[in-house]
Amino acid sequence: MNNSTPVPPFAKLIIVGAGPSGLLLALLLAQHNIPSTVLEAWPDLDTRLRATQYGVPATRIFRRAGLLPDFRAASIPKFPAICWRRVADGEKLVEIDMSVVQGEEDRMTVLQLGEMIRIMYNHCMDPAKGKGLIDIRFNHRVTGTGQDETRHKAWVDVDIDSAGSDTRHERLEADYIIGCDGASSAVRKSLFGNDWPGQTWDCRFVVQNVFYDGFEKHGWEGGNYCVDPEHWGLIARRGHGGLWRVTYGDSAVGLTDEEYLARRDWHLKAMLPGHPEPDQYRIEQTNLYNIHNRCAPTFKVGRILLAADAAHICNPMGGYGCMTACLDVGGLADCLIGYYEGKAGEEILDTYATVRRDIFLKYVDARSIKNLDRVRKADPWTVLQTDPFFGIIQDLNKDKDKLKEFLMKTSSIEYDFTQHYNDRPANNGTPSAEKNGIELAFET
Ligand SMILES: Cc1cc2nc3c(=O)[nH]c(=O)nc-3n(C[C@H](O)[C@H](O)[C@H](O)COP(=O)(O)OP(=O)(O)OC[C@H]3O[C@@H](n4cnc5c(N)ncnc54)[C@H](O)[C@@H]3O)c2cc1C
Repeated sequence: MNNSTPVPPFAKLIIVGAGPSGLLLALLLAQHNIPSTVLEAWPDLDTRLRATQYGVPATRIFRRAGLLPDFRAASIPKFPAICWRRVADGEKLVEIDMSVVQGEEDRMTVLQLGEMIRIMYNHCMDPAKGKGLIDIRFNHRVTGTGQDETRHKAWVDVDIDSAGSDTRHERLEADYIIGCDGASSAVRKSLFGNDWPGQTWDCRFVVQNVFYDGFEKHGWEGGNYCVDPEHWGLIARRGHGGLWRVTYGDSAVGLTDEEYLARRDWHLKAMLPGHPEPDQYRIEQTNLYNIHNRCAPTFKVGRILLAADAAHICNPMGGYGCMTACLDVGGLADCLIGYYEGKAGEEILDTYATVRRDIFLKYVDARSIKNLDRVRKADPWTVLQTDPFFGIIQDLNKDKDKLKEFLMKTSSIEYDFTQHYNDRPANNGTPSAEKNGIELAFET
């Protein structure tokens, strides 16, 4: 480095968690030659069935990270529509024609999370994309954090497992620690214990990959939200070779996982078109979850930051979780890049923490709860008339251009942190979220 090049204000970042948010953050930073170390508790990437669709705001970040061409290549070529159906008689209540955005580069992304994480990992390891700046360490389980402001350092305590030897304990130091370690975040717990305000929903979420030729036979396509007090959920085409994802909530309380699974045939018979018997479909993989809407008291304590599910979580109806996770790390990357390159002061990291938390509480939390209520609490026989969201969709369906504009618009959950860079004209301090006005409760 010659004398005229300013010394960057930090040299070492530790990202905890090699999930979508941790890997995406590492990639965005590497684009600006910022190195990072990613610590992952497990020996390999997560393959559980979780996210499958990511709205336009997330797609814009995927494009920026250079991931979009590979995501599109791995995805199904077309996703023609999203509809809401009444389970009792299978009637389609209302439909969004997604074909109007088929030619748009930034349209919604459809891909199983496991495949998405694998592609992100490959990009991190690719010398042209990760630039050799991303050090991913599996079998590194973070157990605690600490910091010392007099030395301008933070650290993580890590349990390191390696085959054939005892677990080692190490303390790894960095300038900043970023907790991207998901809902059970050890980083968040090290800051706040079990204080994670919000609610856990009184149901068990049962998620499976299903092969069933009845979907096509009965003319089902795209995404189908199922409205019913007992059999609510989402059934959607998600992969090549007739792969569909069936997700439903079971409101029975206090059963074992085996007992929940014993009720599955009953749910699928009610929800799937043609009301099939178990021998008519094939289930390939299943995962069960509790679902929550929760948010940490703050996303930054000194040199330790939280992002994505480690900071906040919401129920999956409508696909807000990973989309918001991507927007968190897209924003945090901009803040770290601005600070690293001398375009912003350290206080931009506080701005990140405040703005992204506000956006979660003001928009994401409320809208994801509306999405959940729409399928499980609404009266399936009157919801078309009583839910203003359905009225808006019906109006948009009359004008394809307006529908397209609605589907592609800048969302109030997006926020451009580069407006806080020193070289930008002074702005009025109003977050872009405020400027966009009312946001409709369906981002995907
Ligand atoms: C059933 C279901 C369906 C969903 N569908 C959608 C959808 O369609 N669209 C959408 O946008 N969102 C959806 N979501 C939400 C989405 O999956 C999450 O928001 C997203 O995975 C969050 O990413 P993350 O990187 O923050 O956390 P995670 O994906 O949980 O990744 C965290 C990583 O950190 C690692 N880790 C954990 N603890 C430690 C530790 N102590 N030390 C080191 N590493 C650690 C974990 O092993 C993991 O690899 C869904 C969620 C569920 C449950």
